[in-house]
Amino acid sequence: MSLDRIRRSIAEAARAAGRDPADITLVAVSKMQPESRVLPVLEAGQRVFGENRVQEAQSRWGVLAPRFPGTELHIIGPLQTNKARAAMEIAHAIHSLDRPRLAETLARLAQELGRCPELFVQVNTGEEPQKAGVLPAETDGFVARCRDLDLPVVGLMCIPPAEEDPPPHFDMLREMAARNGLAGLSMGMSGDFEAAIARGATHVRVGSAIFGARD
Ligand SMILES: *Cc1c(COP(=O)(O)O)cnc(C)c1O
Repeated sequence: MSLDRIRRSIAEAARAAGRDPADITLVAVSKMQPESRVLPVLEAGQRVFGENRVQEAQSRWGVLAPRFPGTELHIIGPLQTNKARAAMEIAHAIHSLDRPRLAETLARLAQELGRCPELFVQVNTGEEPQKAGVLPAETDGFVARCRDLDLPVVGLMCIPPAEEDPPPHFDMLREMAARNGLAGLSMGMSGDFEAAIARGATHVRVGSAIFGARD
């Protein structure tokens, strides 16, 4: 279990960038990991976890969260509209708000439930056809639309193209967040979280570097 090592690397990257390590939230991505790997991380004090799928999140965290008070679940994967209600009921944050129809559904559910998780708008910074996220050119308009719907958008999220150098994507995301008055930046994974912190990440989503490779 390399949680300590990752925490130290986060703190070092923050200090090197002149930032307070406390301003960076580590989202431990537990998707597809066996419980035998997740439990030690909980026992070591980690409380913020990321899951890709709502169903997996429900079945695992419905049991584990009550055992470990303060546990926060972040949904980081593509969210189908028909899973939105379940996601809103269990999640502290959703990092994958990526289309108008989902925004409208979340707004309606927020009215009904009287609460809403923190939301990050996912931006497809590499404009990859197969990838979720709003296009860079559409981001300002989409954020404005979400605000019109009274949605609590706190930041932007991106997953840079696998074959490209990530930093230019992190820079692009930071600039888009700044011009939209958004403080949150969900960027950086196992391979590049230090570079993301150097460029302003407030939430890093780290899976395999903590838990080991997924099957
Ligand atoms: C799986 C996943 C991660 C974590 O990836 P690692 O390379 O294992 O750190 C981060 N973000 C998203 C959106 C993911 O799906």
